[in-house]
Amino acid sequence: MTRNMICIGCPMGCELTVEVENGRAVSVTGNTCGIGRKYAEAEVSAPTRMVTTTIMSDSGVPVPVKTRTAVPKEKIFDVVSAVKSSVIRLPARIGDTAVENAAGTGIDVIVTKDVG
Ligand code: SF4
Repeated sequence: MTRNMICIGCPMGCELTVEVENGRAVSVTGNTCGIGRKYAEAEVSAPTRMVTTTIMSDSGVPVPVKTRTAVPKEKIFDVVSAVKSSVIRLPARIGDTAVENAAGTGIDVIVTKDVG
Protein backbone atom coordinates (compact mmCIF):
# COMPACT_ATOMS: atom_id res chain seq x y z
CA MET A 1 0.00 0.00 0.00
CA THR A 2 1.21 3.51 -0.78
CA ARG A 3 0.48 6.47 1.46
CA ASN A 4 1.08 10.10 0.63
CA MET A 5 1.63 12.62 3.38
CA ILE A 6 3.17 16.00 4.00
CA CYS A 7 6.04 16.21 6.44
CA ILE A 8 5.33 18.61 9.30
CA GLY A 9 8.94 18.69 10.46
CA CYS A 10 9.58 22.18 9.09
CA PRO A 11 7.90 24.83 6.92
CA MET A 12 9.18 23.25 3.68
CA GLY A 13 6.35 20.72 3.88
CA CYS A 14 7.94 18.01 1.74
CA GLU A 15 5.46 15.68 0.04
CA LEU A 16 6.30 12.16 1.15
CA THR A 17 5.43 8.90 -0.53
CA VAL A 18 5.52 5.95 1.82
CA GLU A 19 5.36 2.29 0.89
CA VAL A 20 3.67 0.42 3.74
CA GLU A 21 3.79 -3.30 4.39
CA ASN A 22 2.27 -4.96 7.44
CA GLY A 23 1.74 -1.60 9.14
CA ARG A 24 5.35 -0.50 8.73
CA ALA A 25 7.05 1.92 6.36
CA VAL A 26 9.42 0.01 4.09
CA SER A 27 10.42 2.95 1.92
CA VAL A 28 10.08 6.73 2.09
CA THR A 29 10.69 9.10 -0.81
CA GLY A 30 10.20 12.84 -1.24
CA ASN A 31 11.90 13.76 2.01
CA THR A 32 14.71 16.29 1.94
CA CYS A 33 16.21 15.21 5.24
CA GLY A 34 16.16 12.39 7.77
CA ILE A 35 13.45 14.03 9.85
CA GLY A 36 11.00 13.37 7.04
CA ARG A 37 11.83 9.67 6.97
CA LYS A 38 11.43 9.40 10.76
CA TYR A 39 8.17 11.34 10.62
CA ALA A 40 6.77 9.03 7.93
CA GLU A 41 7.82 5.89 9.81
CA ALA A 42 6.18 7.14 13.03
CA GLU A 43 3.08 8.36 11.19
CA VAL A 44 2.53 4.88 9.79
CA SER A 45 3.20 2.88 12.96
CA ALA A 46 2.36 5.21 15.89
CA PRO A 47 1.14 8.67 14.87
CA THR A 48 1.32 11.45 17.47
CA ARG A 49 0.47 15.13 17.63
CA MET A 50 1.11 18.05 19.94
CA VAL A 51 -2.21 19.30 21.31
CA THR A 52 -2.78 23.04 21.72
CA THR A 53 -5.96 24.43 23.21
CA THR A 54 -7.16 26.66 26.05
CA ILE A 55 -8.15 25.90 29.62
CA MET A 56 -10.67 27.97 31.56
CA SER A 57 -9.35 29.91 34.53
CA ASP A 58 -11.13 30.49 37.82
CA SER A 59 -11.83 34.07 36.70
CA GLY A 60 -13.38 32.99 33.40
CA VAL A 61 -10.40 34.02 31.26
CA PRO A 62 -9.16 31.29 28.90
CA VAL A 63 -5.49 30.37 29.25
CA PRO A 64 -3.52 28.97 26.27
CA VAL A 65 -2.00 25.53 26.90
CA LYS A 66 -0.28 22.69 25.06
CA THR A 67 0.83 19.18 25.82
CA ARG A 68 4.41 18.92 27.05
CA THR A 69 5.10 16.26 24.41
CA ALA A 70 3.24 14.76 21.47
CA VAL A 71 0.18 12.64 22.28
CA PRO A 72 -0.82 9.39 20.55
CA LYS A 73 -3.36 10.40 17.91
CA GLU A 74 -6.10 8.18 19.34
CA LYS A 75 -5.80 9.98 22.71
CA ILE A 76 -6.18 13.54 21.41
CA PHE A 77 -9.93 13.74 22.05
CA ASP A 78 -9.49 12.38 25.58
CA VAL A 79 -6.74 14.91 26.33
CA VAL A 80 -8.84 17.81 25.04
CA SER A 81 -11.80 16.59 27.13
CA ALA A 82 -9.59 16.44 30.23
CA VAL A 83 -8.47 20.01 29.62
CA LYS A 84 -11.99 21.28 28.95
CA SER A 85 -13.27 19.76 32.18
CA SER A 86 -10.51 21.39 34.24
CA VAL A 87 -10.06 24.90 35.63
CA ILE A 88 -6.76 26.63 36.36
CA ARG A 89 -6.25 29.17 39.12
CA LEU A 90 -4.77 32.53 38.13
CA PRO A 91 -2.13 33.79 37.90
CA ALA A 92 -0.86 31.22 35.39
CA ARG A 93 2.73 31.38 34.19
CA ILE A 94 4.40 29.90 31.12
CA GLY A 95 5.45 26.35 31.90
CA ASP A 96 3.03 25.87 34.80
CA THR A 97 1.33 22.47 34.78
CA ALA A 98 -2.34 23.03 33.97
CA VAL A 99 -3.39 19.36 33.85
CA GLU A 100 -1.22 16.58 35.19
CA ASN A 101 -1.21 13.20 33.43
CA ALA A 102 -3.95 14.28 31.03
CA ALA A 103 -6.41 11.45 30.37
CA GLY A 104 -3.98 8.95 31.85
CA THR A 105 -1.47 9.45 29.04
CA GLY A 106 1.36 10.31 31.40
CA ILE A 107 1.65 13.61 29.55
CA ASP A 108 1.14 16.95 31.30
CA VAL A 109 -0.58 19.95 29.75
CA ILE A 110 1.34 23.18 30.35
CA VAL A 111 0.60 26.90 30.16
CA THR A 112 2.01 28.69 27.09
CA LYS A 113 1.24 32.33 28.01
CA ASP A 114 1.32 34.33 31.21
CA VAL A 115 -2.24 35.20 32.26
CA GLY A 116 -3.37 37.13 35.32
S1 SF4 B 1 11.66 16.20 5.16
FE1 SF4 B 1 13.04 17.59 6.24
S2 SF4 B 1 13.10 19.41 4.93
FE2 SF4 B 1 11.29 18.24 4.31
S3 SF4 B 1 9.58 19.09 5.54
FE3 SF4 B 1 10.41 17.33 6.65
S4 SF4 B 1 11.86 18.25 8.08
FE4 SF4 B 1 11.50 19.75 6.48
